[in-house]
Amino acid sequence: MYDELEQVAPSDYEIEDVKEKWGMLDIFDWHGNEKTDEVIHKYVELSKVTCVNCGKPATRRSTGWISPFCNDCGPEYEKFISLG
Ligand SMILES: [Zn+2]
Repeated sequence: MYDELEQVAPSDYEIEDVKEKWGMLDIFDWHGNEKTDEVIHKYVELSKVTCVNCGKPATRRSTGWISPFCNDCGPEYEKFISLG
């Protein structure tokens, strides 16, 4: 993502913070333009369907934490969550 942003970002562009909220990326930036917004939007959308544990395509969301997981990681995490 950062490589792509570098290509389109103005020289004073800065990323203030990157967080994960509700199973998707939440990015705060300064001096962005339409092109940086486009790149960020693409990755935010991608983050909704990518396993937060291993980066594979997500097939499910955990219930307690609204996070996307793939088939491999989902059951493991759900078990972990249900045990508290
Ligand atoms: Zn996974």
